Amino acid sequence: MHTRRTAPPAIPLAKARRIVVKVGSALLVDGASGRLNRAWLETLAEDLVRLRRRGQEVVLVSSGAIALGRRHLGLAPGPLRLEESQAAAAVGQIRLAHAYKELFEAHDVTVAQVLLTLEDSERRRRYLNARATLHGLLALGALPVINENDTVATAEIRYGDNDRLAARVAQMASADCVLLLSDVDGLYTADPRKNAKAAFIDRVPRVTPEIEAMAGAAVSDVGTGGMSTKIAAAKIAVSAGAHFCIAAGAHKHPVRRIENGARCTWFLPQGNPAAARKQWIAGTLRPGGALTVDEGALRALRAGKSLLPAGVVRSRGRFDRGDTVSVLAPDGREVARGISAYADGDVTRIMGRKTSEIAMLLGFSGRDEMIHRDDLVMIDGGADR
Ligand code: GLU
Repeated sequence: MHTRRTAPPAIPLAKARRIVVKVGSALLVDGASGRLNRAWLETLAEDLVRLRRRGQEVVLVSSGAIALGRRHLGLAPGPLRLEESQAAAAVGQIRLAHAYKELFEAHDVTVAQVLLTLEDSERRRRYLNARATLHGLLALGALPVINENDTVATAEIRYGDNDRLAARVAQMASADCVLLLSDVDGLYTADPRKNAKAAFIDRVPRVTPEIEAMAGAAVSDVGTGGMSTKIAAAKIAVSAGAHFCIAAGAHKHPVRRIENGARCTWFLPQGNPAAARKQWIAGTLRPGGALTVDEGALRALRAGKSLLPAGVVRSRGRFDRGDTVSVLAPDGREVARGISAYADGDVTRIMGRKTSEIAMLLGFSGRDEMIHRDDLVMIDGGADR
């Protein structure tokens, strides 16, 4: 049923524009010594650099801070208390970052450390802020290396596993491919260690309850994410329009290996990244206000352009930066919805004015666009990217 393959497994990876690669603690840190698997990491770095050289953008989500830090603090094996893992993360993260800097610098690639908390993906304004940072880093050619900010995360407010963090990051970055490199090579119908009849599934067109039920047991020793968090991550990523792959990562050159046809499980996207985000904007949120635009701006919007302050003639309602607003045609019809980069008060100050005047008018330099085209969806059948 799910094992039929219509395309070689590596195609989504070869075709992707923006790829999130997540590496688990079990790969990065040697379980026995608690040290970084440096030789392996070098081959991963080479793989990622190769993706970049052929024009693909890469975001790395790296675990390993806690696993790496605990040895230096002399913490005993076994589960850690919250304050112990916070401390271990603080010690391990700086080492991780140092290793990545050295490894990638050798290839003339600039790495950027981004530590996220759960709220950065769940609260809209923070989400937009984190997203802008990620897009900015990618536009500048840096390679973001992301982890949860475990040092300040509390038990109640944390992802706890980097599988779902990676999926959220993919959503944030509008990535079209997520690669989870782990100590399991993919999804089986049952736990292969316990059931000899367990069959491998190489393609999941939809995450059905049946698929979720298969996630049962395959749990690794070092990392925190079992198969069920991987399936949860898959659901987030595919509904954001990304291909999602679970693959074994322990071999050298783990990404190249997948491209060369190694066995892995691919979850197929349920939309495309832009559509998923636009659905979120068009459907999920109630507009907090409305911006009326002039004919010129309306034409620009229909051509897929952003809304600039110059094209706005009127602002109605109370809204904050990051809230969704309606965009009204000169005749008052709602033609679009989008996320405003400015609060209502600031909108009134800069509407009708040139982008170059924003800083002078507001006393701070905000975004050039009132609504960026990535945050805008036409709802009257007009052009839409
Ligand atoms: N954020 C954790 C760390 O860096 C890892 C979480 C996970 O294992 O997925 O140690």
